[in-house]
Amino acid sequence: MSDRNIGPCPLCGRPMLAGPSVDRHHLVPKSAGGRETVWLHRICHRKVHSVLDERAIASAYADLDALRAHPEIARFVRWVRKKPPEFYTRTEPKGGRWR
Ligand SMILES: [Zn+2]
Ligand SMILES: [Zn+2]
Repeated sequence: MSDRNIGPCPLCGRPMLAGPSVDRHHLVPKSAGGRETVWLHRICHRKVHSVLDERAIASAYADLDALRAHPEIARFVRWVRKKPPEFYTRTEPKGGRWR
């Protein structure tokens, strides 16, 4: 196992490798006074913030179970689970469908 492996992503469950493919996520947004952060894949992190604004995160999605249960994020996770650990794309697949 690579020593860059910092553990499974709490969103998609794939291994995370230290470097540009991972990001820190504030469980409660900084703007709402949150301090606790977790590592997420950059692509998983980007998905969270494309689906939810900070107000929604602060009020209903400040924990990982809630994030995983969000239908749009759940669909994204089913898609990204088959990708290599350091996979990243800026653009959503054609039609905006992550499947
Ligand atoms: Zn992930
Ligand atoms: Zn974040």
